[in-house]
Amino acid sequence: MGLRGLAISSLNDVRWHQRFTRLGSPFFSRVQPTYLPAPYLVDTCPQVSELLGIACPLSDADVSVLSGNANLSGSQPFATVYSGHQFGVWAGQLGDGRALLLGELVHQQCYWELQLKGCGLTPYSRMGDGRAVLRSSIREYLCSEAMAGLGIPTTRALAIIGSDLCVMREEAETAAVVARVAPSFIRFGHFEHFSARKQYTQLRQLADFVIDSYYPECRHQAQPYAAFLGLVINRTAALIAHWQAVGFCHGVLNTDNMSILGLTLDYGPFGFLDAFDVDHVCNHSDSQGRYAYNQQPSIGLWNLTRLAEAMLPLLMPLTPDEKSVQAAQTLAIGLLAEYVPTYQSTMLRLMRAKLGLCREAEEDGELIEALFDLLDAQQVDFTLFFRGLCSFCVDDGHHHDIFMHKLFIAPLGWVQWAQRYRLRLQWEHSEDLVRQQKMWRVNPKYVLRQHLLEVAIAQAKQKDFSEVIKLREIMTHPFDEQAQYASYADLPPAWASTLCVSCSS
Ligand code: AMP
Ligand code: MG
Repeated sequence: MGLRGLAISSLNDVRWHQRFTRLGSPFFSRVQPTYLPAPYLVDTCPQVSELLGIACPLSDADVSVLSGNANLSGSQPFATVYSGHQFGVWAGQLGDGRALLLGELVHQQCYWELQLKGCGLTPYSRMGDGRAVLRSSIREYLCSEAMAGLGIPTTRALAIIGSDLCVMREEAETAAVVARVAPSFIRFGHFEHFSARKQYTQLRQLADFVIDSYYPECRHQAQPYAAFLGLVINRTAALIAHWQAVGFCHGVLNTDNMSILGLTLDYGPFGFLDAFDVDHVCNHSDSQGRYAYNQQPSIGLWNLTRLAEAMLPLLMPLTPDEKSVQAAQTLAIGLLAEYVPTYQSTMLRLMRAKLGLCREAEEDGELIEALFDLLDAQQVDFTLFFRGLCSFCVDDGHHHDIFMHKLFIAPLGWVQWAQRYRLRLQWEHSEDLVRQQKMWRVNPKYVLRQHLLEVAIAQAKQKDFSEVIKLREIMTHPFDEQAQYASYADLPPAWASTLCVSCSS
């Protein structure tokens, strides 16, 4: 086997596919990236390089490609058009305002789209400058990989390329490009776009493309479009349950930020909960708290309802009468009705695993509810609590209980809940050591807390990328003890209480 056979290649050796462009011109525009002055590599992600079969770290030639400065042989980049509801309001046409797709590369039988975010103006840039700043690029890069490390469906990130090019936000910042990777970046908003314009031929074309490329199992169903919508509902419900179970807040759950594949998409003002607060709002521009932590499950359903509305024309005959319209609506409502039970059963399964419960008991829902109430009332650190709970002892619990006391303002609440938990564990004859091993695999020690990002970003602005790299390494293995990094699992320092994350990126 020659070197090429080892499948480590440079981006210029890649044979690019652009299946999406076969949809035709209403779906995208060809755009050349804008020149990025003096690009430099911030970091390459080894796991994503491996997925793609691209050499890690990136070569200078690949950095040049990802900065948008080098012409890529065999690929003409393109930006796609979509629309969406932003903060509950129809926003009309949006689109890839600063992202370009190079196309898909195939590695080990998988298609991966490679998208450059921040590489200049497109026809969909509206008032924007087509750029992304280093700060937000680091946040997106690290959180994609942190989510992947946690086992949560997400888009991935291959690398960040920086430049000294000045970009104005609330203050002067510098530009960067994130090379993002996913099987597809298609959003709910792509469907809304063609539906809102009554371009039903295109809507059908898009649905057929997504089904054939990503949901082939639906093709053989009696009603392929309904089956497809059902699976998107299912995946979205499961995705949001995963977020809730790890204390992740997305921050901007507009329909144009919802992946048709059920991936976490478009990392902006996201946040992981430190102190548990069900009403936590991580995006400081979200004054109404529309996207608060405890709103995410119902927002998921709201967004899916917009998708279902957009897809209604596909659920009825080409020339519908009143009866077939009603039948389509009834069908969509029936599919949407699956959202809550899917979300609840996934959440219950994830929470049982977090508590180390192997068997199902009637009262588990109540036990979990009582725990959430307790954590919320006492603002207990979410991640530290569950990691601490892994060491719970059924018989000789005193020592562990005392250790947990320090997480609570009023430890009596903990003592009472722990007693219930102990009885529940005894009921299923749970063995401490066996349970502990399992719980360590589902309760992360490390999450990408805001204050960790803040330090990494501040250093990166001074061209020291070591903290970005370190965070990427730690967050790739969030369930491992990594004793040398124990301080990265600590409570946020006092200075972090005033941190503010805005929408600007
Ligand atoms: P977001 O809030 O980042 O999901 O972006 C919403 C829409 O605004 C998308 O269509 C983006 O492509 C576009 N957008 C955001 N920032 C910029 C920018 N700096 N330049 C051009 N378009 C942007
Ligand atoms: Mg977006």
